[in-house]
Amino acid sequence: MEKKIIIAIDGHSSCGKGTLAKNLANELGYLFIDSGAMYRAVTLYLTRANISLDEVQADPAILGNIKITFQYEEERHYYETYLNGENVENEIRSMEIARKVSPVSAIAEVRHFLVAQQQQMGEQKGVVMDGRDIGTVVFPEAELKIFMTASAEIRAKRRYDELTAKGIHVNYQEVLHNIKERDFIDSNRAESPLVKAEDAITLDNTSMSKKQQAQLSLSWARGVIKALS
Ligand code: C5P
Repeated sequence: MEKKIIIAIDGHSSCGKGTLAKNLANELGYLFIDSGAMYRAVTLYLTRANISLDEVQADPAILGNIKITFQYEEERHYYETYLNGENVENEIRSMEIARKVSPVSAIAEVRHFLVAQQQQMGEQKGVVMDGRDIGTVVFPEAELKIFMTASAEIRAKRRYDELTAKGIHVNYQEVLHNIKERDFIDSNRAESPLVKAEDAITLDNTSMSKKQQAQLSLSWARGVIKALS
């Protein structure tokens, strides 16, 4: 029997982790989990309820009111994010949430709340999860770890094109600024900062096509699965 593994994909903001992870999950028949969507959903909840980060730290039980689930959309071949039963997929991708999410993610109480749920989702293996701390904190024992990066300008261009194609109006300079700011906060926070796990393979996709990345990562995954089976 082919052994199921955990694939952890970490890296900088907007470098295509989700696309790569989704493709691997589809090819291998694995579950795809976008951990960033969970941090975004918490940010949306706190924004709507007007709850400050100080309040969360003083009373982390507030987080118990947040239920995040994913539902697979057959038509779009996409997992959509639900916050307390409401589809929030579009709202969590807005610039407002992008601006607020990194400070929320730096709060230890928020991380403990979400990491516990992420670890539960991986209990059966057969999971591809992307984020910032998947190979270091969530699944340090993951059988395959990929650390993705690309130049900030290329990442901003790709994110700008993606949002524009969805009809979301944004300014390129604002997107670039947001990417650099999120990288800075994510890499410098005290609680599980974004760092490459020692045993992760680096994938710099600045000048790679989506197809090349997909083929390369799938060959890594198949290699690991074969060696373990
Ligand atoms: O992956 P995405 O860009 O959607 O993530 C949004 C934000 O959530 C990141 O900028 C980061 O601050 C936070 N995040 C995190 N740890 C993860 C995933 C995301 O801190 N595992």
